[in-house]
Amino acid sequence: MIKSVYTSRSFITSLTSPVLQWCNAHPPNARPINAMLLCYRNIFKGFHSANGSAWAVQALDSGLLTATLRACKWIDAAEHPELFGVVEKLLSDMLSKYLIFRSVLRVVRRCLRQVTKLGLGTKESAGALWGAWRVFQVLAEERLSLLDAWDRKGGRSERQLCSRLQCTRQDDEALKRCSGCLGPTYCSKECQRLSWPLHKRGCRESRQMLLDGLEMPRDKLDVSFIRFITKLEINRRLPKILRDALQAGVPRSTIVLDINHTVVPMTFTVKRVSDFGPPRRSGDGGEDHSPAGRGWRGMADALD
Ligand SMILES: [Zn+2]
Ligand SMILES: [Zn+2]
Repeated sequence: MIKSVYTSRSFITSLTSPVLQWCNAHPPNARPINAMLLCYRNIFKGFHSANGSAWAVQALDSGLLTATLRACKWIDAAEHPELFGVVEKLLSDMLSKYLIFRSVLRVVRRCLRQVTKLGLGTKESAGALWGAWRVFQVLAEERLSLLDAWDRKGGRSERQLCSRLQCTRQDDEALKRCSGCLGPTYCSKECQRLSWPLHKRGCRESRQMLLDGLEMPRDKLDVSFIRFITKLEINRRLPKILRDALQAGVPRSTIVLDINHTVVPMTFTVKRVSDFGPPRRSGDGGEDHSPAGRGWRGMADALD
């Protein structure tokens, strides 16, 4: 039942809307603050689950970022320490972690435009949350420029197309996501209706996976982009990586990097192949569902 509620239509949207409304209150009383805390905590639960990036996209699509930035001006660290901590974590940690996914970055690009248009995210308006906001903003801008570079390299249009194959409309401001599976985006109700016979089966399967908390297969282009970012990060840190390996007595030809995408900024630790057991499989329990997991296997490619 609870799972059904979580994956029901626009669940994240319905959580974000009250946050949006309360964020405009001057000054809010205690009740909305407790309710906001509850909303943020539930949104966090979605982020922590398998397919967290899908929840992040939906939350951002619903205006979570602008709502949160509006709230910054009255969230006082001393007066509302709990809410302050939650918002700080949302910006500098929870949302920032998902800036490795193309789907999230596409929505973030639109959100940043809105933030500028509304005059939010300035040092003055962000107040004590300025530091947390800057962690997110700086990383988002860097990743967006990497996405553009990756896009140019692969010759792929990063503009989001309507998911109906015959439709060539490229208006990422107007595209609306399928609320069943949080996957495809359509330019109009008509395109969604025409695509339904083809999408129906996949939609049902994806929705079931969301309900069961199963991780959906990662998009090949997402994997390609994550590798692109990781290679750049490795190149940037290569002198330090080699120095660490030398100090640890790991021969250069057998270096394995343990890369952790689940923290911001991501960490790189020099290890030996023998430091790693067999990778955990789905169903073993205790898997890490955070963005991209801890993927040492992919790093053999990155070091090529
Ligand atoms: Zn269309
Ligand atoms: Zn769908």
